[in-house]
Amino acid sequence: MDLNMQWHHEIRGKKAVEALEKNGFTAAYFPDRASAAAHLLSLVPDGASVGFGGSMTIQAMDIKPKLTQKGCTLLDHGIEGLTPAERSALRRKQLTSDVFLCSSNALTMQGELVNVDGTGNRVAAMMFGPERVIVVAGTNKLVNTLDEAHARIKAVAGPVNNKRLNYPNPCVQSGECMDCRSKSRLCNLTAIIHRRPPLTDIHVLVIGEALGY
Ligand code: SF4
Repeated sequence: MDLNMQWHHEIRGKKAVEALEKNGFTAAYFPDRASAAAHLLSLVPDGASVGFGGSMTIQAMDIKPKLTQKGCTLLDHGIEGLTPAERSALRRKQLTSDVFLCSSNALTMQGELVNVDGTGNRVAAMMFGPERVIVVAGTNKLVNTLDEAHARIKAVAGPVNNKRLNYPNPCVQSGECMDCRSKSRLCNLTAIIHRRPPLTDIHVLVIGEALGY
């Protein structure tokens, strides 16, 4: 990355970390995915059950083989070849996993996490259930305000995730949210975590790279 851009990612990432800490989260800045992955692995106890919230950022960090080496049970509804019933069962098990891993669609500079879900399993697990939640977010997810967070989701996260999942929704044609009424609509719930819920140990790892959508 260009050094000037790297500086910009870092200064904004560290400010976001300060805001997250003020809101009760445990937060840290990492310059790249490798250093973030090493820290993430240190937060997962050996033998833990680990739920996955369907994150491209987690996928880019390539941590699944290392979790398996730690004796962890992986609860991932995104693996290929599962039946709808099997996916559903894994989503339910994630709600009581020891550790839940996910990203965030947007992260405000006031230290808020903003997410839109289709079924709600990811946002539910982020709030209550798992003992520990680890959120990883590239600095491309940083926005100044909640309004900007919603705008980012409509302009980028929604359409690109629809494209990734090959859903037949109108944003795949237009490249932007059309606020559809489709049965396969991916955006049925919006969750804003303003401050850390008291019974969930939430760690937010801000990474100075463009990762995920
Ligand atoms: S509401 Fe519909 S059109 Fe908008 S991003 Fe979601 S799925 Fe796409």
